[in-house]
Amino acid sequence: MVMLACRMVTEQVLDGKKVYVCNCGLIYDDLLVAYACDEYYKAHGKLSEDITKKAVNVPHNLNK
Ligand SMILES: [Zn+2]
Repeated sequence: MVMLACRMVTEQVLDGKKVYVCNCGLIYDDLLVAYACDEYYKAHGKLSEDITKKAVNVPHNLNK
């Protein structure tokens, strides 16, 4: 059962591509992975390495 009472994942457009920012600050290109990160954190009180390694690396300079 999925509870979406509190959505902590926000959509952003980064370099013309839609990305999903988790409550923990990590950025994912897959909404479901972002939710999985948030859910894992809420359930376990820590981040999942399996999930965080899927996070998108954000370049400091976004000018292209
Ligand atoms: Zn997260």
